[in-house]
Amino acid sequence: PTTITDELGIALSNLADTATGVLTPTLRLGVTGLSRAGKTIFITALVHNLLTQGRLPGFAPLADGRFIGARLAEYPDATIPRFAYEQHLAALSANPPVWPESTRRISQLRLVLKFQSAKWWAGMTGPAMLNLDIVDYPGEWLLDLPLLGLSFAEWSTEALERARQPGHTDEAAEFLAALDQTDISEEANDPDAERLASAFTTYLRRSREHGALSTLPPGRFLLPGDLEGSPALTFAPLPRTSGATARGSLYAMLENRYEAYKAQVVRPFFRDHFARLDRQVVLVDTLRALNTGPAAVNDLETALTSVLACFRQGEANPILRPFSRRIDRILFAATKADHVHHTSHDRLEAILNRLVANARKRASFAGAETKSIAMAGIRSTSEGTIREGGDTLPTLVGTPLNGEILDGTTYDGRTEIALFPGDLPARPDSLFENGSPVALNFLRFTPPQKLERNASGDIVLPHIRLDRALDYLIGDWMA
Ligand code: GDP
Repeated sequence: PTTITDELGIALSNLADTATGVLTPTLRLGVTGLSRAGKTIFITALVHNLLTQGRLPGFAPLADGRFIGARLAEYPDATIPRFAYEQHLAALSANPPVWPESTRRISQLRLVLKFQSAKWWAGMTGPAMLNLDIVDYPGEWLLDLPLLGLSFAEWSTEALERARQPGHTDEAAEFLAALDQTDISEEANDPDAERLASAFTTYLRRSREHGALSTLPPGRFLLPGDLEGSPALTFAPLPRTSGATARGSLYAMLENRYEAYKAQVVRPFFRDHFARLDRQVVLVDTLRALNTGPAAVNDLETALTSVLACFRQGEANPILRPFSRRIDRILFAATKADHVHHTSHDRLEAILNRLVANARKRASFAGAETKSIAMAGIRSTSEGTIREGGDTLPTLVGTPLNGEILDGTTYDGRTEIALFPGDLPARPDSLFENGSPVALNFLRFTPPQKLERNASGDIVLPHIRLDRALDYLIGDWMA
């Protein structure tokens, strides 16, 4: 349960915000999504387009001519890693361009935006400023919230039950064997704890790799951030057998570590970062799941439902309440929309809507408004047409990444091709039903190879609907 000091901590930090924010308001934008959903690309593209005033016709402040400019500023909290914007941009503008390294841990970046307000009194006060604080963090970490309400014994029961289900025997076999070989009532020792934790991590990783997009807590076991190898991550679920839980036993040791993980890792993340966000974008690699098939789509839905549980209020569980009260807008974005023709973009949005519908149905998101969008932070394809028989088919033109395979051809990362990507179905429900995957020609492409430059000599990063995303997330703060 939340302690009074937690509550106080949040209240005080909110106060501090308003105290220092008298002159410049601060909008904290959270960017999350499961591993490889596209967080790094989204943030890099967003920052670059704001800094260079890119092509953003759907972003009202820029379209109205009220946007004056943006610059990077020092982030106020020096203890959190900075989002490596320059490094990521360098990768994208290298020769040849490469995709930057993905998100592994939390990082932040502050942009200061200068604009002319559209309000009637703005003429008297001159240009306005807004601090846009972007917080990038792995969606996997959100899966840990329920742990705050579970004791070690309760969590262990759940986790062991799942590991023993027939469908998971392959993935869990090693971990269960390691458990069998361990006497948990014996005196606590680190090598045993490490062996069990490592077998448990392998099991979690395998569950993930088996086509599954969903992940299981603890979130840091898959994405440890800076905690790799630290004792807080060296635990595993254990059966509770009588007499085995005495002080000094292995059981007691792992129970302590589990509690330490909650107190020192999970709770501070939610209290210090998550609870202070004003807006949130949740990125979803919808196309990858569609391409894999109905099982993956259902799995993604499950994963999203647990991720999104963190944004719901009025939850029976009071521990969630203080963590979800600020966010007033959530944007769901299906990323990598440049993998389908633009005629499928609206369908992609409809599919994403359907994916998050379950999570949304049960309760509103803490009173927050939500929206779904199909977008690409960086567009790595262009569009054309091919004639096949008597038909004209819409195509994508792009360079498949080295090693990508389609119809028996392996690509070398240098050859541009035109392909018919396939159509997304008009009826999203069919995707969740048993059957074959949508017949998409889904290849991963290299980043755009030839980038235009604007009048100031800055590269122009092409995107899809990034301007709409931006307008929804920050436009009203610049009205
Ligand atoms: P995350 O930081 O783990 O969420 O993921 P990244 O942003 O690093 O994206 C993972 C990979 O997805 C990248 O290396 C790209 O190959 C691909 N990707 C991400 N965003 C886009 C996009 O907008 N267009 C295309 N074509 N690929 C993308």
